[in-house]
Amino acid sequence: MVNQTVEKVRWPQGTVDKARKLIGDRGNHFLKRMEGETGANISACFQCFRCTNACPVSHYMDIKPHQVIRYIQLGWREELLQSATIWVCLSCEMCTTYCPNEVQVAETINHLRNMAAHSSVAPREKQLALFHQTFLEALHHFGRVNEFWLMGALNLKPGVLKEKIRTGALAEEMALGLLLLRKGKLKLMPRRCRAMAEIRKLYRQQRGEMA
Ligand code: SF4
Ligand code: SF4
Repeated sequence: MVNQTVEKVRWPQGTVDKARKLIGDRGNHFLKRMEGETGANISACFQCFRCTNACPVSHYMDIKPHQVIRYIQLGWREELLQSATIWVCLSCEMCTTYCPNEVQVAETINHLRNMAAHSSVAPREKQLALFHQTFLEALHHFGRVNEFWLMGALNLKPGVLKEKIRTGALAEEMALGLLLLRKGKLKLMPRRCRAMAEIRKLYRQQRGEMA
């Protein structure tokens, strides 16, 4: 995309690079949308890399945190929604804490993850995407997360149980569950949060179902 042949054209303001102008317009549109929806000051990023240096899992990301911000500035939406990064991110907010320009990198990545979850784009990290989806379902049903319900619902998603049996993760999970149960740290019955109406309202707002 970047290496394409550059054509010079005359714009009203003077001669500019047409390819860059087109990328700039597209980028500006996505950039404005992201800034509007997240409140993050994405334009302020000057690519200092501090967010990436602070990130504990950047090694596992295909697009590093500072690159995520640059991609948004360039309007590369598809590349971001198809990335492993949005699913690998732990939402630990180290990137946001270390950013000198208060760009709110973690919140931005979280928003991209939600955009991907509600789009037709196939997630790069299927298991993590299913976990994210189940987590949101738990919030929608109960307004809080019950670990027993969460893991049960996740295991019922297509392909999850088979993969856990194949890797041995199911046996480890069950052993951990029993340990937590014995120590009284695992509640079998989920309980609804009192502020269900507010949580569901936030959930629908996040999905763009209401103003
Ligand atoms: S730390 Fe902030 S300013 Fe620096 S690259 Fe990351 S987002 Fe941009
Ligand atoms: S919130 Fe995500 S991107 Fe930011 S430091 Fe944590 S894991 Fe890395």
